[in-house]
Amino acid sequence: MTTHALLTPTEVWRAKIYSNGWKNPGLGAESVIEKATGAKLGEIGIASPEDVSVAAALAREAQKDWAKTPGPLRGDVLREFARLVLVHADELADQIVRETGSIRAKALWEVHMSAREVLEAAALGSQPVGVLTSTAEAGRQSIARRIPVGVVGIITPWNSPFILGSRAIGPALAMGNSVILKPDSQTPVAGGVSFARLFEEAGLPAGLFHVLPGGADTGAALVKEPLVDMISFTGSTRVGRQIGSIAGGQLKRVSLELGGNNPYIVLDDADIEAAASAGAWGAFFHQGQICLTAGRHLVHEKVADAYAEALVKKARALIVGDPFDEKVQLGPIINERQAANVERIVAETLAKGAKALTGGSRNGLFFEPTVITGVTRGMAAFDEEIFGPVAPITTFRTDDEAVELANATEYGLVAAVASANLARAQSIADRLHAGVIHINDQTVLHEVYGPIGGVGASGNGFNHSTLTNADQFSEWQWITTRSQIPVYPF
Ligand code: NAP
Repeated sequence: MTTHALLTPTEVWRAKIYSNGWKNPGLGAESVIEKATGAKLGEIGIASPEDVSVAAALAREAQKDWAKTPGPLRGDVLREFARLVLVHADELADQIVRETGSIRAKALWEVHMSAREVLEAAALGSQPVGVLTSTAEAGRQSIARRIPVGVVGIITPWNSPFILGSRAIGPALAMGNSVILKPDSQTPVAGGVSFARLFEEAGLPAGLFHVLPGGADTGAALVKEPLVDMISFTGSTRVGRQIGSIAGGQLKRVSLELGGNNPYIVLDDADIEAAASAGAWGAFFHQGQICLTAGRHLVHEKVADAYAEALVKKARALIVGDPFDEKVQLGPIINERQAANVERIVAETLAKGAKALTGGSRNGLFFEPTVITGVTRGMAAFDEEIFGPVAPITTFRTDDEAVELANATEYGLVAAVASANLARAQSIADRLHAGVIHINDQTVLHEVYGPIGGVGASGNGFNHSTLTNADQFSEWQWITTRSQIPVYPF
């Protein structure tokens, strides 16, 4: 069943923020824009630093009762949220298409995967809340139990705003925290209003969840706010460094999921047609605007020409345009600044001697899928996260050289290896500096069950998954009990 009643009528939330109901914001309103057409979709309120402080005080108060609510009942609210996500799947997907420029298949995948993320989070509420630990002292009972962190500030980017919000909001609430969400200013409805409307329908108690749209100033105010106990940030390494340093100064818990420059290694024994198909998906899906995008194609020199040829064929067959057209496979780049940056990276790389086999130019925000060969270290397409539909190919001669090239980056998010020889691929994988590694698949895989997180400049090790979410969004507390106070030497 699908309905379109969630985000309309827009009067409910037009030019507002969500903080104990819909409110007028401190900093006025901004337009919400459809990326493919430039059409104005509506207006959203911009939260001021004062709005952040008010929300934090409300969130702190509401969190006290929520922490006392039995976990399975917290889980019930999240299960209802997940059910409503599926009821409103079409409407949510439409909004994602409009605001992010993704094709509809990607938006629908994002919606369904988000429901799964929140269902998994809901189940955390019925997991054991602690353990009886060993103790070396007779007569002492020793317990370790999980307690909520408190108020969690969540800052998300625009590229997959619903799933990146869901994967943090769900477990944060399940573990008994309250949440203040600062969505990206380019996707405030898909990444902000949607959650507020769904939680309203799901019956989440007042004050526990706030949506404060705004830009960097609103985000910075959230990070600095003393009543916020933890920041969960997904976005660029540049901003992640700033947030990490401010949060560190306040000794505030901070989870950083940052950028990547992900190597996709193709060995000379790989099935080249299959490897190129996977490589095309990894490079071009969502216009290459995913943290997990295959940003560097490292290909054995013996098969490099065949790989490049197959990849070019894939790239040339892709249809670029308005993502509401069912035939279209690549939508627009998110904004002019980002499109110009992709163009700069391509131009600088070509100026240093690399060769574009296809693509390389754009029509406004619509960038052609691009394949570049002869890319080496020191070229922008090798050194930088591109965040556009560009596949730079770099060749290598030995497995050791492949490893060295793959690790020649400060990032460490995901890496992939394609080979017919699993032992050889595993031996390469064992030497890669990355939080996620896939053998015989491409880099853009997302599941809630396997831990996703980066090392190096890609993050600080707070993985998102069923396995790790409870640790991320709770503290351990040690409690000992004796029936009588023991006798001490003095
Ligand atoms: P960004 O510029 O870092 O923005 C991300 C969020 O931070 C936005 O909500 C932004 O607000 C906010 N922000 C900006 N400056 C801030 C500040 N000084 N203090 C607090 N908040 C601030 O990220 P982006 O470039 O748009 O997003 C793409 C990046 O995210 C890529 O590098 C990508 O690899 C990374 N990413 C990583 C993951 C992962 O799981 N590792 C997933 C997706 C994306 P406004 O934009 O509204 O100003």
